[in-house]
Amino acid sequence: MQQNFQSIYEKLYEYYGPQNWWPADSPFEMMIGSILVQNTNWKNVDKALLQLRPYLRPELIEELSIDELAQLIRSSGYFNIKAKRIKAFMNWFKRYHYNIEEIKKMDSNQLRYELLKVNGIGKETADVMLLYAFDKPIFVVDAYARRIFYRIGYDMPTAYDGFRLDVEKQLPSHLQQYNEYHALLVEHAKVHCKSSPICKGCPLHSICDQRLE
Ligand code: SF4
Repeated sequence: MQQNFQSIYEKLYEYYGPQNWWPADSPFEMMIGSILVQNTNWKNVDKALLQLRPYLRPELIEELSIDELAQLIRSSGYFNIKAKRIKAFMNWFKRYHYNIEEIKKMDSNQLRYELLKVNGIGKETADVMLLYAFDKPIFVVDAYARRIFYRIGYDMPTAYDGFRLDVEKQLPSHLQQYNEYHALLVEHAKVHCKSSPICKGCPLHSICDQRLE
């Protein structure tokens, strides 16, 4: 079954209200955070960012060795791998003189293509960066979005981009809406559509295939 992504957005927005979600203090912190959050949650990322805070400038991260960086981000888990990924990302970022405004001017598809070529940046990480650091209206397909839409009854495409493009075909290209949509899905997955769902009172109850009566 295909879904009306706009109407689902409206139901969530009406129920939870605006989220005004911004998981980091700056676009640079958001980029680093989007790598740190791989295979963990933002709570652990916050602890790592606290340690990293005195170095949260591109030039300072560049000066850290991989081992020093790894020790600072220990609490995010997989810290040796993530330190290498951050360094690989910084090499790419340096090509643009660490200039976020310059990068924002790039076409969204080209920017996504470049990010995906960086070692350790997969589609979800790239899309979180595109949306929250580079202001590109893009739908982030994460485990929460998959869980919620699967339960509602959406014919989930097997490819990551199939789901993303289905949503983007229907929604207008408004940055704020994509920002809110991702945040609302995260909120919904925490409040109602948990791994063991609490369907009573759920704003999507009337349209959900897997609702518990
Ligand atoms: S009705 Fe239950 S399973 Fe369906 S979206 Fe709501 S919480 Fe999730």
